[in-house]
Amino acid sequence: MSRTPSSTVTGTVYIVGSGPGDRDLLTLRAARLIGEADAIVYDHLIGEGVLDLARPNAERIYAGKESSRHSVPQEKLNQLLVRLARTGRKVVRLKGGDPFVFGRGGEEIETLVDSGIPFEVVPGVTAAAGCAAYAGIPLTHREHAQAVAFATGHLKDGTINLDWPSLARPRLTVVFYMGIGGLAEICRQMIAHGLPPDHPAAVVQNGTTSRQRVLTADLATLPARVDAAGITTPALIIVGTVVSLQQKLAWYPPPASGPAEC
Ligand code: SAH
Repeated sequence: MSRTPSSTVTGTVYIVGSGPGDRDLLTLRAARLIGEADAIVYDHLIGEGVLDLARPNAERIYAGKESSRHSVPQEKLNQLLVRLARTGRKVVRLKGGDPFVFGRGGEEIETLVDSGIPFEVVPGVTAAAGCAAYAGIPLTHREHAQAVAFATGHLKDGTINLDWPSLARPRLTVVFYMGIGGLAEICRQMIAHGLPPDHPAAVVQNGTTSRQRVLTADLATLPARVDAAGITTPALIIVGTVVSLQQKLAWYPPPASGPAEC
């Protein structure tokens, strides 16, 4: 929803989700706004070729955000968006996936609201949806899962503070974002809270891109398999019996087209 500009010189900030990697998964609205922007503040996980849609003279500002090193502290970033908008420019804040799914979109908007800066939010394909589709793992399925949960597997002080009893349930698919560093702990907790050790689980690395890797196993064996395969971030963990469909439903990259291009 757009808000009324507080002065004629104030630009608008568009908080834009850019999807999980494949540039073709941008919404039409995201592609149009990127092409019109005067300034683009972008994250680490922006798909290849997305910034090529920007005008040559658009200012491009890298904001970082790898899990272990935040190039620009969040508060500085919030203030940067305010400053750019106050110069009257059209600002696109480009985020991986969807801005409102583990994207801190809410925090950035709060500063804009407090500063009277007009803004709009453009949803994107979140990594769970993109990776599940490109891996051939339906997140829900009438015979497997009637609900799906998105959780963060980000470690805080060496532990993952999640409501394990509500996640370790049958007929539920759980997708863990930012969980690869805590994979062993996640699998251990899911078993400790009642799921069988042979409950299917998968990891998708670089989903929707030409570098996509999918590894399926079960809760007991996934951590060692992922270690052995050298899978690192960005990767999603998908836990649920829907993972058992992957072998049959995998389609990407399409055989006719060979490796996908971003
Ligand atoms: N707002 C984003 C999520 C940001 S958190 C969204 O809606 O998708 C960053 C985490 O997302 C990564 O640590 C990883 O778990 C996941 N992720 C993002 N892109 C991914 C991709 N292409 N493949 C696998 N996981 C991805």
